[in-house]
Amino acid sequence: MAELDRAAGSPAAPGDWTYAPAPESRDIVHLRERYGLFIGGRWVEPSETYATISPSSEEPLAVVGQASPADVERAVAAARAAFADGWSSLPGSERAKYLFRIARILQERAREFAVLESMNGGKPIKESRDVDLPLAAAHFFYYAGWADKLEYAFPNRTPKPVGVAGQIIPWNFPLLMLAWKVAPALACGNTVVLKPAETTPLTALLFCDVLRQAELPAGVVNIVTGDGSTGAAIVDNPDVDKIAFTGSTEVGKAIQRRLAGSGKKLTLELGGKAANIVFDDCALDQAVEGIVNGIYFNQGHVCCAGSRLFAQESIYEPLVDKLKMRLETLRVGDPLDKNTDVGAINSAMQLDKIRELVESGREEGADIYQPPCRLPEKGYWFAPTVFTNVAQSYRIAQEEIFGPVLSVLTFRTPEEALEKANNTPYGLSAGVWTEKGSRILWMAQRLRAGVVWANTYNRFDPTSPFGGYKESGFGREGGLHGLEPYLRFDE
Ligand code: NAP
Ligand code: MG
Repeated sequence: MAELDRAAGSPAAPGDWTYAPAPESRDIVHLRERYGLFIGGRWVEPSETYATISPSSEEPLAVVGQASPADVERAVAAARAAFADGWSSLPGSERAKYLFRIARILQERAREFAVLESMNGGKPIKESRDVDLPLAAAHFFYYAGWADKLEYAFPNRTPKPVGVAGQIIPWNFPLLMLAWKVAPALACGNTVVLKPAETTPLTALLFCDVLRQAELPAGVVNIVTGDGSTGAAIVDNPDVDKIAFTGSTEVGKAIQRRLAGSGKKLTLELGGKAANIVFDDCALDQAVEGIVNGIYFNQGHVCCAGSRLFAQESIYEPLVDKLKMRLETLRVGDPLDKNTDVGAINSAMQLDKIRELVESGREEGADIYQPPCRLPEKGYWFAPTVFTNVAQSYRIAQEEIFGPVLSVLTFRTPEEALEKANNTPYGLSAGVWTEKGSRILWMAQRLRAGVVWANTYNRFDPTSPFGGYKESGFGREGGLHGLEPYLRFDE
């Protein structure tokens, strides 16, 4: 019994339940030493390269391309040729077949993709396995269904593809963000040049093998890896018709400025500082689970993370007590361990940003709580953190931390909760916890957020549009709304 309970070393004391390691095998992933750029259906040698690493061990995983503006030009030319050579005029039912194939292949190779996502991004395997992969496949299935029904989606209008879509994505959900971008673009008859984030290129590169298996015509999807300069080259390329960007508000604003007057279509999915609002009549234990899922899921690297908890004053103490108790049971560590709840921080740069903001929280006078946990020596780690005694003006209540850090604030009345929740430049998401249906509706109508969850949090479905207000961006991904940015309606 003792051996079963313990990883190694000293036997467990009676009543001391610990988890044995349960690592997922890496054998299913066959990494190449070097990857080129995927242009026109072929691997093209990049002008420069860099090494991509595992953030949980800092071990180099592969060498990948740093695409130059000239490389991006070749990718755009390949996408343009594929658009003109038949992809845009293919019947929708034919395009749908490719999307269905991609969805099926992602399901078949789900374990391989999940392991690679956790290796390159640091997220727990149970999340990549149970969330990222099923949702990515579901997105392709969903948009496959629309490909031959666009006239019904937009009755009495004539939907036509836009052309070449330039797509730039972040590192927090690498394959899922790729699916959100590629699936609707192809369903509508566009071709694509996509840049994954600098730190997480590997699942996008493995996806090229899925495209080969699905026999997608050459040039319909092109993947160029690299840093922000590669993204800027896509934005500036005159032959790109539409830019779809998911990332920080800062870069989003810069892109909007550069595109002004260019006639290119643009959608921006940017940052957030969501309010998770807990009323005193809610099911408290359920709310605690929702709060934990809201902020510690994916290490808090979630644009819609519930990073500001608003607790009604009458339940503030029991709520915070329960939350702290629950935090003690979170397991932080090896992303490939099936018992891990909180994995590695995605990069050294992101870890610095989290540390800086947490330091500002201490200095401004908030109280910090971190459960006892031993962090691995190598790699990038940050313990789950709760700040109480937070004023609305503190940086930790205003700025997006994008890490496992929760700021707790309080309110007395629904009006006060609403006013405080909306007091942010962002408007991506919000959560409401109450037994009262009328209050849910009252709050949901008044919260300036693209998504409002009630008595749950971080729920996603391809049929449901997602996107922001204010500095969280514009345009929607998912659902029927998600088709529109990839279509034009002139006669
Ligand atoms: P980021 O720095 O803005 O990067 C996003 C993407 O843009 C990356 O591929 C990045 O390349 C590229 N990029 C950087 N500078 C660029 C430039 N000047 N022109 C064109 N592209 C450029 O954001 P991040 O730090 O990776 O991601 C975190 C942010 O994304 C958070 O603010 C989060 O809230 C937001 N986000 C929003 C959503 C949503 O749906 N609303 C979803 C996920 C994340 P590099 O990788 O080389 O920097
Ligand atoms: Mg960046």
